[in-house]
Amino acid sequence: MAAMLANLGARDVLTAASGLDALRLLSERNGSLEAVICDLGMPAMDGVELLRQFGRTGFQGGVILMSGADEKVLNTAGKLADLQGLRVLGQVQKPVTPAQVTGLLSRSAAPRARRRQYAAPLQVSPQSIRDGIARDEFAVWFQPKVDAGSLKPVGVEALARWRHPSSGILPPDAFIGVAEREGLVGELSQILTSRALMEGARLHDNGFPLTIAINLSGGWLDDLHLPDFIHATSQAAGLRSADIILEVTETGVMKDLATALEVLTRLRLKGFGLSIDDFGIGYSSFEQLDRIPFTELKLDRSFVNKGTEDATAHAILQGSIDMARRMGLTTVAEGVETEGQLELVRMLGCDRIQGYLIARPMPTDELIAWLRARQDESE
Ligand code: C2E
Ligand code: CA
Ligand code: CA
Repeated sequence: MAAMLANLGARDVLTAASGLDALRLLSERNGSLEAVICDLGMPAMDGVELLRQFGRTGFQGGVILMSGADEKVLNTAGKLADLQGLRVLGQVQKPVTPAQVTGLLSRSAAPRARRRQYAAPLQVSPQSIRDGIARDEFAVWFQPKVDAGSLKPVGVEALARWRHPSSGILPPDAFIGVAEREGLVGELSQILTSRALMEGARLHDNGFPLTIAINLSGGWLDDLHLPDFIHATSQAAGLRSADIILEVTETGVMKDLATALEVLTRLRLKGFGLSIDDFGIGYSSFEQLDRIPFTELKLDRSFVNKGTEDATAHAILQGSIDMARRMGLTTVAEGVETEGQLELVRMLGCDRIQGYLIARPMPTDELIAWLRARQDESE
């Protein structure tokens, strides 16, 4: 493929040996690659998973999918990539001809409205993270989760933020991945978790007994001390296990499945809620549901965003909500941005809502003011 591209006159062709390698290259280039050709049948991380990770970074380049699988699989993968916000130039079945590649690449120059900024414009080094930890620059913000019917706040999700000295507030996508690759995620996660629980306790002290959700990084789930750490930290903060929900993604669980299963089961036994995040995107979401004693299911925001206009996304939402209900899981729709999306997920029977329509993530003091204002309104 690299040779074919070079023959076609492409400059600067990079080859990745695996999905992780591709993500590393993307991050080295700060996301500025013109186009990516992705073989869906890669070892370890498959192409669908890789595209999800690319989508996460806000990648703006073109994407060409390639596979030996049948056309239906290719089309579905293309659709999923599109739902991730990626700019899909097209799908091709192997063997691929130079003419097909030229045709698809020529579309790559087509302009498109920028959906969002690439999340990590600056090069975050492991040392800068260590410095940030030493200078106490890592914080958590909270985004409310509300009841779908009454829109009353029922919980919050803690989201990491880095108050970077020169770049302002950085989102987690800019540093969690680096921390995971560089072996810093355990230390960083402990700091963020402690922070989330202390600030969460402050909400309770102010008269808002909301559940506190924390994102558990896959790179931390292989630490067998994690259940005891979270238990001890929540007790020190004065919170009950039932007040706390731990959110994990399927990818996080897959990194070291045996240890993750043990860690998550022990957390559940200690009374913490367990939520499966970004549900429906990965290929084994359903399998994980069967394995792990989850209490909550979070519908990925790509489906919520497209659910009003796209039949596939609608069907995935409906199927996931019906199944969750049968399994006794609470459902949360994340990324609800419009009234139309709110109506849709309500109609489908979703229990909770989280998204910009309700509120953006904010620091604790701002959240307390927001909660007070909302309380006054409803009185
Ligand atoms: P997530 O767990 O799926 O969190 C939801 C993300 O969606 C947040 O992005 C939130 O700001 C954003 N969001 C919420 N409502 C809307 C909406 O209506 N529209 C859109 N477009 N976006 C919305 P954020 O804060 O940038 O976090 C990104 C991801 O970083 C999170 O995705 C989570 O996987 C990870 N993360 C956040 N905090 C932590 C942490 O403390 N530890 C670890 N390991 N990961 C974290
Ligand atoms: Ca989450
Ligand atoms: Ca999510």
